[in-house]
Amino acid sequence: MTERAPNPFDLTGKVIAVTGGNRGIGLGLARGLARAGAHLSLWARNETSIAAAAESLASEGVEVQAVRCDVSSAEDVEAATQQTLERFGRIDAGFANAGFGEAANPLKLELDDFHRILATNLDGVFLCFRAWGRHMADREGGGKLVAISSISAIFGTPLQPHYAASKGGVEALVRAYALRLARYDVQVNAVQPGWIVTDATAPASENAAFSETVVKRIPARRWGDPGDLAGVAVYLASDASQYHTGDTLRIDGGYTIF
Ligand code: NDP
Repeated sequence: MTERAPNPFDLTGKVIAVTGGNRGIGLGLARGLARAGAHLSLWARNETSIAAAAESLASEGVEVQAVRCDVSSAEDVEAATQQTLERFGRIDAGFANAGFGEAANPLKLELDDFHRILATNLDGVFLCFRAWGRHMADREGGGKLVAISSISAIFGTPLQPHYAASKGGVEALVRAYALRLARYDVQVNAVQPGWIVTDATAPASENAAFSETVVKRIPARRWGDPGDLAGVAVYLASDASQYHTGDTLRIDGGYTIF
């Protein structure tokens, strides 16, 4: 009998932290990673829903930890990193997914509101990359850092200048960390989702006229589902992406090429 080649997408036993892992895209990433064999540390602010998400994964046999963390707080991110290391002993991959958007008139947008978005969407990614990257650089075996960006990083978004700026910043941050951490065998990439149905986009996906306009522009002719991001998450967390770094992978059903 010939021996089977190892599966480069296998995540068995890998420890992966996912911020905003209690719902939406974060939970979709977590489910996909768990199905490939990963142990998970789910981070978010809402303790009830993070515990519920962890319980639901645990009931499927996943080793999972729920951690309360506001990613805009350096203290919280350091403490959450510590808690994950205490439970699992290491972090093999980290997904900085937590984020949110708000509509605003760019000519009336208050500086505080601009900063509030950046604090979670950009500072949050920086704080997680710094904490996870430090751990990965200090050990043998490298690691994987992934940030969830948005197609807003490349499109003009007239009513979300702060959100767009935060995601453009995230992609620049990814390239900076990719260069610095390559020597430690840490790959750093971003994912740019298109239109994905979650709580955040419910007002848009449930608005029939708006949704029809969006879907007409998506060659796949449907909104994405958080599960549509599971494949790229497994790839970016696994050995399959060992020589792939500093990149942004777009998962949008073809929206941006139409
Ligand atoms: P949801 O609103 O469904 O989920 C947002 C998640 O982020 C929640 O888990 C929330 O948990 C967490 N979160 C928000 N702020 C913080 C914080 N300060 N600290 C820790 N956790 C936080 O949104 P989506 O799933 O749609 O979005 C997830 C990511 O994907 C975001 O970065 C978003 O910008 C990006 N994205 C989404 C797209 C879409 O179409 N849905 C398209 C492109 C990008 P809690 O409130 O408990 O803290």
